[in-house]
Amino acid sequence: MFNKTDYRPTKAIIDTTAIKHNAQHVRTHLPKETQLIAVVKAEGYGHGAVQTAFAALDAGASVLAVATPDEAIALRKSHPVVDILVMGPSPVSFAKVAAEQGITVTVTSATWVEQINAQKRFDRKCKVHVKIDTGMGRIGVRTESELSHLLGLLDQSDNLSIDGVFTHFSRADEENVEPTRAQFQQFMQMVACFPEKPRLVHASNSAATLLYPEYALDAVRLGVSLYGIAPSAVVAKKLPFELEKAMMIETELAYVKKLPAGERISYGGTYETSEEEWIGTLPIGYADGLKRSLIGQEVLVGGNRVPIVGTICMDQCMIKLPCDYPEGEKVVLIGKQGDEEITIEEWAERLGTIPYEISVTFSERIPRVYK
Ligand SMILES: *Cc1c(COP(=O)(O)O)cnc(C)c1O
Repeated sequence: MFNKTDYRPTKAIIDTTAIKHNAQHVRTHLPKETQLIAVVKAEGYGHGAVQTAFAALDAGASVLAVATPDEAIALRKSHPVVDILVMGPSPVSFAKVAAEQGITVTVTSATWVEQINAQKRFDRKCKVHVKIDTGMGRIGVRTESELSHLLGLLDQSDNLSIDGVFTHFSRADEENVEPTRAQFQQFMQMVACFPEKPRLVHASNSAATLLYPEYALDAVRLGVSLYGIAPSAVVAKKLPFELEKAMMIETELAYVKKLPAGERISYGGTYETSEEEWIGTLPIGYADGLKRSLIGQEVLVGGNRVPIVGTICMDQCMIKLPCDYPEGEKVVLIGKQGDEEITIEEWAERLGTIPYEISVTFSERIPRVYK
């Protein structure tokens, strides 16, 4: 999935111990009987789905969750027995494959169920979780009448069996508790419509898991915080325990030179040395996820913050060094060096986005190294 290279000093170093720590801490924060669903979609938020899954299961997670059928099939190869839930929509054609591979899918649509009910009997039933839309407005059944129609169709199905029901909070990472409380209440009302309580009733994402342990129910779906990232600044301030960051992005100085004043750096010549300056070149660029708009962002060299100068190229970028450094000197783009730290949150703020988006932008070309 990620490139394996022996020749690239640019690496994402993934600390699986941090992932285990986060999973274990969440478990102790929740009621004993609440199960931990490790969300490993989008290659484990850029950390690698397979290795993250092993770490999370080791630390007490009992279910893996992904967004798409293809992610589930890929994960099934390394994890032959554990429950895998596809949280996003699946095409009708996937149900039979899901049944054969023991993959659980999400159901929201009556026509989807009707089409599967019309198919020849599967050898094994496909397990489904019913999705309830309590305010996210994305996928899911919204009314009791829609739900009872869907439950009727599922009841008649030879091919599908209900294993769970869930909803998704849209505002659990905010200061205001009211929208989440309302979503939870609406969810419980819908769950009461099931003739029999499904095995797994679940609602919480990372933010709700951390801030509302009273909404934990049978399971929580922990995504971003499994990787040590707080879902928002509001949640970061209220964390019940410290999260450990699992990703570090590191490279080395590939080239170092001293330039006189008045020399221009990189495409467009937008940066001009104002005095005699030491300029270092790093073998990482926007094709690796170091977005061009990160111009000016600092990196760590020798425990100090130094800025990226000039336009970021596809595969390389330049930094302004305080003095001469040897080629091969370690440079940290995300992570700690000495007393300094650069976080994914810092990049997110600079780019006007959320840490989630940053974690998934490091491309396949950056090898992931596990420790
Ligand atoms: C991505 C996702 C999660 C995990 O959310 P985090 O905020 O990363 O914990 C949980 N549930 C659903 C349905 C999702 O799509």
